Amino acid sequence: MDIRTLFPILDQNVYGKPLVYFDNAATTQKPQCVIDALNGYYTSLNSNIHRGAHYLAAKATECYEQTREAVRNFINAKHSHEIVFTRGTTESINLVASSFCQRFLSKGDEIIVSGMEHHSNIVPWQLACEKAGAHLRVIPFSDEGILDLHALTNLINEKTRLVAVNHVSNTLGTVNPIAEIVNIAHSHNIPVLVDGAQSISHMPVDVQALGCDFYCFSGHKMYAPMGVGIMYGKEELLNEMPPYQGGGEMIKDVTFEKTTYNDLPFKFEAGTPSVGDVLGLKAAIDFMHQCGIEYIATHEKMLTDYATQKLQEIDGIRIFGVAPHKTSVISFLIGNTHPYDVGTLLDKLGIAVRTGHHCTQPIMDRYKIPGTVRASFAVYNTKEEIDIFIQALHRIAPMLQ
Ligand code: PLP
Repeated sequence: MDIRTLFPILDQNVYGKPLVYFDNAATTQKPQCVIDALNGYYTSLNSNIHRGAHYLAAKATECYEQTREAVRNFINAKHSHEIVFTRGTTESINLVASSFCQRFLSKGDEIIVSGMEHHSNIVPWQLACEKAGAHLRVIPFSDEGILDLHALTNLINEKTRLVAVNHVSNTLGTVNPIAEIVNIAHSHNIPVLVDGAQSISHMPVDVQALGCDFYCFSGHKMYAPMGVGIMYGKEELLNEMPPYQGGGEMIKDVTFEKTTYNDLPFKFEAGTPSVGDVLGLKAAIDFMHQCGIEYIATHEKMLTDYATQKLQEIDGIRIFGVAPHKTSVISFLIGNTHPYDVGTLLDKLGIAVRTGHHCTQPIMDRYKIPGTVRASFAVYNTKEEIDIFIQALHRIAPMLQ
């Protein structure tokens, strides 16, 4: 299978140059099967789910629930009712921060996050802490980009209510030792939320083996459409947590005196979901299975190792995030050049990278830099594209220094 040809968007020129798309940590491109699934839904299946007595409603509901089962299988959750559809990682984390904290967070309590979190795994906890009168504590990390687990152990105390960390840093690429973090937290009966936005498309994820209590991710970073994400939560906790939003679907009975809530997972799925996008997610999971998750990981590691080695040959290069265990994200600066200038010149050569703080301002503060240039690879990228990228940098570097 020639994976690249399955992605129509990649076959185009930008400013007269073949597109090199290295902005995959922001969002991946979509294979034809995902585009077809979306198109197929709106062409022949569109209907609101769960409440219709007619053929299209029943069929759309069946496909929607099949996707839930496909997600359960994909991350090896115990029950499909532990899979909640959301709009993405951000909404998933906000759901937990709002609902879990309403039930379990009180004045003076503490929540622990790491210093390498995306703003989506910082701000929802800050909001929850502000509401409850609780405090945020932060696990530091080393210059290489490795979390200090000794510090985590020291941060935990009788006031700690939750640990929230990412599986993979979107800026440093570090793969964090989630099973170890879960062991530390669970030995004090503290649940762990994992932000899986940057891991889900790069490695096999088994939530039962990791032992985490919540696992959140976005469809659009794993070849699926924008507008769908997942909040996995352990049944026992989800049953204890109040609804996040009120509305249709999440209720059993409504009277003006009292409303009773629906069972899991519907308690957390108020309103009409993005059914077409959910069906696209099923197609994306099938696509990843076809590629083989192990193949994806191996191919991306080859690209990352090759690009890292070639980048190191450029004068003045500084790479941020050099943990031994990392995914296909490379953040760098060339001398004192501004990341935006590098990104703009690369763009004119047809190369798409991301520049700036990548929604991780605390990481930039940690290194005392304004931002980085970030190249991130997916399964369809090639060594030839890395050669084009490196040649471009050799051309650009002297112009900017
Ligand atoms: N967490 C991490 C680590 C991310 O990289 C991102 C997006 O870049 C998010 C959370 C937020 O994801 P979304 O914008 O899809 O909700």
